[in-house]
Amino acid sequence: MGSFSIMRALDLNRAGLLAISLALSACGAEPSETASSAAQDTNTQERPSILLVTLDTTRADALGIETDLVDTPALEELATRGLVFSQAYATAPMTLPAHTSILTGLYPTQHGIHENGRRFADSERLLATRLQQLGYGTAALVSAFPLAAEFGLASGFDHYDDELPTGEAERPANETTDRALAFLGREKAEPLFLWVHYFDPHEPYEPPEPYRSEYPGAPYLGEIAFLDRELGRLVTAFEARLEGRPYKIVVAGDHGQGLGDHGEALHGNLLYQSVMRVPLIIAGSGVPAGQVDVAVSTRRIFDTIVGWASHEDTGRSLLSATPETVLGEAFKPYLQYGWQPQVMAVDGSKKVIRSGELEVFDIVSDPTESTDLTGRVEVDPEVMKTVRDHWERALSGPVDSGAVLGEEAKERLASLGYVGSEGRTALRDEAPSPKDMVDLFHDLDIGSVLFIRNEYEKALPLYERVLSADPYNTAVCLHLAVAHSVLGNEQKALEYFDRARQISPDSVDLQHYLAMHHFRFQQWAEAEPLFEIVLDATPDKLPALECLAQIRERQGRVQEAGSLLERITTLKSDPKAELLKLGEMRMSIGDTQGAIRAFERARVLQEDDFDHRLELGVLYLANRQLTEAAASLDRVTASHPAYPLALFKRAQVSVLLGEPDRDQRIQLARDNADAVTAPLIANEKLFKGSSSP
Ligand SMILES: [Zn+2]
Repeated sequence: MGSFSIMRALDLNRAGLLAISLALSACGAEPSETASSAAQDTNTQERPSILLVTLDTTRADALGIETDLVDTPALEELATRGLVFSQAYATAPMTLPAHTSILTGLYPTQHGIHENGRRFADSERLLATRLQQLGYGTAALVSAFPLAAEFGLASGFDHYDDELPTGEAERPANETTDRALAFLGREKAEPLFLWVHYFDPHEPYEPPEPYRSEYPGAPYLGEIAFLDRELGRLVTAFEARLEGRPYKIVVAGDHGQGLGDHGEALHGNLLYQSVMRVPLIIAGSGVPAGQVDVAVSTRRIFDTIVGWASHEDTGRSLLSATPETVLGEAFKPYLQYGWQPQVMAVDGSKKVIRSGELEVFDIVSDPTESTDLTGRVEVDPEVMKTVRDHWERALSGPVDSGAVLGEEAKERLASLGYVGSEGRTALRDEAPSPKDMVDLFHDLDIGSVLFIRNEYEKALPLYERVLSADPYNTAVCLHLAVAHSVLGNEQKALEYFDRARQISPDSVDLQHYLAMHHFRFQQWAEAEPLFEIVLDATPDKLPALECLAQIRERQGRVQEAGSLLERITTLKSDPKAELLKLGEMRMSIGDTQGAIRAFERARVLQEDDFDHRLELGVLYLANRQLTEAAASLDRVTASHPAYPLALFKRAQVSVLLGEPDRDQRIQLARDNADAVTAPLIANEKLFKGSSSP
């Protein structure tokens, strides 16, 4: 391992013993000062409260610690009294995979989340679950939709605040901090694990004042400065609450931002330092001040925190572990466009990227990775083997837990620039390396967002440009087919579907989009078998369920349509419309109890806006649940077009219940009778004993 060679104690006063001890242990020397001080900490047995702050889209070189271009006093204060890791790396340049690593200690090849919009299902593995088991109160506040509870990271948290402003996919740092401070003010649990996630430096860059004015022309840095102010408020509030009890703080970036480096404006497509090297600072009780220049992965935050909480050393804590070859991956271009999967390894000062071909950089002497040293320097064969193994594991390992996003979730992710793929595709031998495709990033990123926003006319020329440069791009080919289909260009659409079939004959996406195309053109016979194939492969795919339900209803197969609707109501976050439809459908085939179930679920969701009280009352009456029938019919308002019918039914219920005012109710029904209810009232045997005429 070459870690000793890059051990630079930049400031000896601050670097302290820890960096030196890490260097020694890297050389196989005796266990260090740090290890023994950790052991002392163990003996005190008081578990520290822990604050974990993750900074989205924050480059390591965009903090005041490394540059004079921005002021970040809160981070610098933490860095002064804490331990700064100058070579900390994300496991993937994307929010959900990177955070899943921080919260599980696993690489994406192990946890299976390679991109946003997937669901992590192994709740037992999560940091919060572990800490809960160790007696911690656990809380999280996250600031963007990619970390919403539905994606699986909320397990183990007693409190998970992922509420976003209406219609927005992100929450500004000041709001998240306000909520965190309110939480800290009322929460009594000790010890406490609090995770706060800030999202502001993510595009679009819109810093609030005064940062907008203070950073003219550099709004990304303005967002960083704003973030720093909020981090300062948070740390102050967290520490104020402790009253002398032990605590630890971890601040880490989830991934960086390209900002044009190597042709990448955003993140997710490449593995260069701009997007992979992130800030990492640890501070708090017993944490020595200093700087560690050994390369570390942010996944070790998991082991570090578990170590503090359990007083057990997993061997991978950032404070005591031996240096390791740090790995990373960027799978989005592979999953979405069929390009080469990319993995990287950092070992000492050397960084290797494998993306079909190989690149080697010296990240200490050439931090911008301007000179590819492939063939000019020797790379440890062990490292090369690690890269190869990681690449192969990534291709053969789990991809995700099978979550399929609803349209609403897709739109919210797309509003942040994320468009998830539909799953793993076969890798062509001659698939291009993403680094050779940077000229297409802009068209692909913008095209995807336009597409999800249904702005198909605008997306077409972008996608056509991409496909002419990258003729094997199945996803783009399908997007072109769908765009033409929606725009009514049937012939053009079919041409692109044919072309997609030639590239990827087994693609489930192809079957799905082609089925949707036939549905759009009311070609039911063509659409039906394709939807069945799609649902065999992906049973939760909402659009396919919805279309097939309509086809079944049209075919008069109401029972089957009902089953599909029932399934849809379990998958949608807001299934009110489907529940009403399901209730009506069941009512039409005489399934009284099934209809009551559906309407009751809709009533709970809609509360005062529920407008099927007449139907529900009639169903309860038919089911001889008279009290429920009365309650529902009583809430039908006079403005309801079938109000006379409600009065008639209510009078029937009243007689059956033997209510003292039943005669007045019958009279009311008579007084308000219309063409429908007049003959019903006249012939109603229940009313015969009434004193009225
Ligand atoms: Zn992120």
